[in-house]
Amino acid sequence: MIYSDKFNDECGVFGIYGKNVKNIASTVYYGLYNLQHRGQESAGISIMNGKEIETYKGMGLIPNALHDKGIENLTGNAAIGHVRYTTQGNRLLESAQPFQQHLKLGSIAVAHNGNLVNAHVIRELMEEAGSTFATDSDTEVIIKMIGRKATEDGIINAIRSTVNAIKGSYALVILADGKLIGVRDGFGIRPLVLGQNKNGDYCLASESCALDSIEATLIRDVNPGEIVVIDENGIKSISFENNNKKMPCSFEYIYFARPDSIMDGISVYNSRVKAGMYLAKQKHVEADIVVGVPDSGVQAAIGYAKESGIEFVHGLVKNKYVGRTFIKPSQELREQAVRVKLNPLKSAIDGKRIILVDDSLVRGTTCKIIIKMMRRAGAKEVHFRLSSPIVKYPCHFGIDTPNSDELIGAIKTVDQICSEIGADSLDYLSEENLLKSLDNSSYCMGCFTGEYPISPTIHK
Ligand code: AMP
Repeated sequence: MIYSDKFNDECGVFGIYGKNVKNIASTVYYGLYNLQHRGQESAGISIMNGKEIETYKGMGLIPNALHDKGIENLTGNAAIGHVRYTTQGNRLLESAQPFQQHLKLGSIAVAHNGNLVNAHVIRELMEEAGSTFATDSDTEVIIKMIGRKATEDGIINAIRSTVNAIKGSYALVILADGKLIGVRDGFGIRPLVLGQNKNGDYCLASESCALDSIEATLIRDVNPGEIVVIDENGIKSISFENNNKKMPCSFEYIYFARPDSIMDGISVYNSRVKAGMYLAKQKHVEADIVVGVPDSGVQAAIGYAKESGIEFVHGLVKNKYVGRTFIKPSQELREQAVRVKLNPLKSAIDGKRIILVDDSLVRGTTCKIIIKMMRRAGAKEVHFRLSSPIVKYPCHFGIDTPNSDELIGAIKTVDQICSEIGADSLDYLSEENLLKSLDNSSYCMGCFTGEYPISPTIHK
């Protein structure tokens, strides 16, 4: 059987542990709030008191999902939270996270960011052995696997054997047995950081910007292949995979993460500015202003302007009340969504030769509409620049990109794309320059190269 990308989730996770965390519910709530960009479809919080856990979840943005749950006055010594964005999987409340189960040793709650490529194989084996599943989520496979082993082996050994069996990307936060546990997959594909607040309470989060919102300090990234166990005895690190090369997702820096986050020692903002600077060096073009496509294109545009000496202008006004518009059922609705989200600033654009910078081209829908709008606003020339290499392959590890037949970079040449989107010229950041903007470490570049840290095709 060939793996299908059914459970593709972009998500954010958060966790906190402390002997006396003040206002635990609001702490996890506001920590999670700074991860809202990682998922807008559902949100959930689990709070642990002793060994008992209560989970609250709802659909939509965090305030809508959790507003009527009466969580404000809950007390506890640890909590986890999750925001979810699913593209093709089950969008029902029962698939919202955290997942919770009752075990002999107490309750367990799990929140997961990432995507397993062998969940269906494990699930079938477990079903043959009598397990039942309520959802199509790979996270349910994880919690059931841990649960099955935990009574006999203890929670840490159960987690260890589970992470040795699952393949794919995962940043996990787990509450069980009076502990907060964080796990990052062996390649560190999805991010997970460790922080500490003023009272000494430890926190885990997908991005460091979530620590900032609760005045916690970033201590370090959870290492690839590391389990961190936080309990009344402090913090303990267990390594479960030693031989893997660290290969975090490069698309986190290009598009997905917030610019105010620091991931694996690199400022997302700085990496985007550098990408823009390299773009400016790659291909010279005469122009009057540089405009970035909000949000992630703006920082690359700042870098482009800095390097080229061409003035940076906020030439596109974003409607703050519109969420991400990427996934829309039809082309027509996608186009309408872009027009509602972004509007050119005519007074800044009229009569100008423009360098327009965005982070990535996926289907090619957004930029085509923006370029049309720019011309209608009086742009004399529009030179389109991308702060990522050509996206040619789907992601199997948690970033939502369609299959290759819908990716414009996979089916058309750069010249064909340039004329299709109506630009005067087009250039993509080279793979080499992307790596330079990321300090030349190693990254998963699967969406550009088709080479993934783990084979996405799992045969039975
Ligand atoms: P498209 O219009 O299909 O070419 O999409 C490109 C736009 O979508 C760019 O402005 C990107 O910032 C944004 N984008 C790229 N990847 C994603 C993703 N995985 N989810 C949502 N938006 C994305």
